[in-house]
Amino acid sequence: VTPFRLHGPLLSPVSEIEFRFFLRGVVAVGGDGRIAYSGPEPDLPEYAAALPRRESPGLLLPGFIDLHTHLPQYNARGRCGASLLEWLDRHIYPEEIRFADASYAREVSKHFFRALAASGTTTAAVYCSAHAEAARTAFEEAERSRLRIILGRTLMDRNAPPELVETPATSLREDEELISHWHRRTERLWCAVTPRFAPSCSMELMRGAARLAERHGCYVQTHVNESPAEIARARELFPELGSYTEVYETAGLLGERTLLAHNIHATESELDLCERTACAVVHCPEANLFLGSGRFPLKKYRNRTIRYGLGSDVGAGTTLFMPQIMRSMAWVQQENLHPFIPLYRATAGAAEALSLERNIGALDTGLCADMIAMRCDLETGEDAELSAEDAASAVVYRSQPSDILAVWVAGEQVFSSA
Ligand SMILES: [Zn+2]
Repeated sequence: VTPFRLHGPLLSPVSEIEFRFFLRGVVAVGGDGRIAYSGPEPDLPEYAAALPRRESPGLLLPGFIDLHTHLPQYNARGRCGASLLEWLDRHIYPEEIRFADASYAREVSKHFFRALAASGTTTAAVYCSAHAEAARTAFEEAERSRLRIILGRTLMDRNAPPELVETPATSLREDEELISHWHRRTERLWCAVTPRFAPSCSMELMRGAARLAERHGCYVQTHVNESPAEIARARELFPELGSYTEVYETAGLLGERTLLAHNIHATESELDLCERTACAVVHCPEANLFLGSGRFPLKKYRNRTIRYGLGSDVGAGTTLFMPQIMRSMAWVQQENLHPFIPLYRATAGAAEALSLERNIGALDTGLCADMIAMRCDLETGEDAELSAEDAASAVVYRSQPSDILAVWVAGEQVFSSA
């Protein structure tokens, strides 16, 4: 990366209750793609002042992090009228089956990663279909996009259409191959072992998946406690275990690198289990609203140390644009949520969920220069002092996808609206 400094308004998370904001801010990017300085213009140190100056086209923010989304569901967004299990059967499995066609998989993958970048998302955890060839294609397009991508094949060995089901032995062999080629191939790529959810996975498959993730240091991603019918099915299939979450614990799937999507109907003992195993939870409010699955118990998470962040969950989520997901988080709670909370959960909070907080999630000195410039209506009255809260409100509650003007990953520009 050619070092440069970018001048413009700057907003960056410190915690869920504190953000740094400078109307006249600067982010300086070093040759290593990391932030050499981030702060107010008047404090710009000499070494940063020596770098070539550029003007930011908008408000500078850390790139958004989407902790849960499905690539092969991108073209199946917005197909409503069914609860989770029927929706999967009627709309989602038929679309995922289409990914047996490598050229279709290529076309959607290209489109998907372009749309992610254009939405201001610089890091995403992504589910592919079950097809090995489609997953390789997705990795190739992920690499080409230069985004930070965590990717896994969605594994199922029962209770799903035959085209999407494999034996555990085949699943694990194919995943092993994918991992050996793609996991950490570049700094920006990771594999995630991805058993879809307990209703469509045997214990044998889940145990094998857990061992694979452990051996290679991959992420694990799956769904839990999303809808009452799904929970009932999981309990029916594993009657000997105390809870849905215990199924995953028994399989060895719960740990620091595990992303559990939804978890909105978790019991207290299941939340204890999450805390004890240090797994992270992904809140997907837009998808929960869309499928009528239920409400994320935000208050319960406030009293706990469980790491959690936001996910678009496309295609039950209708958009990859994270501010829309942030807004949905507030709508679900039916309270006036302070804008710092959802914005934190799609930036620094999500980075913590991935254990990547020393690299991404904020515009702090030393972190990777993953950032976006966003058109933002920051006008106030003549004497009004603009605050971090005003800027965060504009991002969370007043923005639209076309407001994303420029996106950088490690100081490298990956999108421009111009
Ligand atoms: Zn999902």
